[in-house]
Amino acid sequence: MMAADHRGMGLEGKNVAVLGVADESSLAWAIAKRFAEHGARVFIGYQQKFFSRVRLLLDNPGVTGDRCDIEKDEEIANFFARFQNNPLDVLVHAIAFAPNELFTEPASDCGADAFCKSLTISAHSLCKAVRFAKPSLREWGSVITLTYQASERAEASYGLMGVSKSALESAVRYLALELGPKKIRVNALSPGPIETVAATGIMGAFLRNPAALDRQRARAFQEAIEMARAENHPDPLAVASAAWKHFQALAAKRCAIEETVSKEDVADSALFLGSAYSRKITGQVIHIDCGLSTANAL
Ligand code: NAD
Repeated sequence: MMAADHRGMGLEGKNVAVLGVADESSLAWAIAKRFAEHGARVFIGYQQKFFSRVRLLLDNPGVTGDRCDIEKDEEIANFFARFQNNPLDVLVHAIAFAPNELFTEPASDCGADAFCKSLTISAHSLCKAVRFAKPSLREWGSVITLTYQASERAEASYGLMGVSKSALESAVRYLALELGPKKIRVNALSPGPIETVAATGIMGAFLRNPAALDRQRARAFQEAIEMARAENHPDPLAVASAAWKHFQALAAKRCAIEETVSKEDVADSALFLGSAYSRKITGQVIHIDCGLSTANAL
């Protein structure tokens, strides 16, 4: 049986695949970097459209990368081929996408195409990544995905994307059941709000569509945007970034521990799930959110 290494996390020389790196701000990158710092061999997967940013990260020791668009089977097969004779210890799935209307439009008005796109990329993609990875996943290997608390309750600014996260968490439980006989674990980490490309993208969608703030009753976003607008930032991207920081601060005020969550907090929890210290944990959603998910809704 996989034993915990009492000299460290026991991750030296382990093979770790991390899907969903867009740039330095990605949670996937924080996780990849942390595994590499602990001596793991890390392979990052990215969409070609982000290559100009991702290539700057490939200079880091212990990190290599390749294209892996989850809608392109050839890219996925090519990505996982490297593990055929070199088994994979940890697979991190940090992939999500939804058209803006899922966040900004009432649930009853969202189109089926947008809804299905979100489910395919944000939930089914975990099943797909596991399908390609499983021939190479080592016994006591660990699969980790990223979810968000809007799966468990309706969060005004998250809209029907919350359904995709509910589906993702359900998929975690079924994949855990499937892979349990091979002693492979599947779990989700559920962080509080953190500034990334995806996160500021959601804020940007509301910035461009202010009527949606009121319609969706996205009060915390509204307050955050008002504060950011009052600060005279030079462009819409800077406003979105400032608004996100205000949103994080407003969220922190509702938490048991009145702090924001950092990428490093998430990466450390990923180390735990990737190590033998979590060897009997599977099918779970672990919240890293200072207690936000147990407090008042945003
Ligand atoms: P991010 O924008 O850095 O990462 C999202 C990634 O999804 C990108 O790298 C993008 O390339 C990838 N992706 C989208 N479509 C893809 C496709 N077809 N094929 C391959 N990759 C694709 O943002 P992030 O916040 O780091 O998001 C990572 C995960 O963390 C997501 O599941 C997100 O929902 C989750 N999460 C984020 C927060 C937050 O506040 N940032 C909180 C909780 C959960």
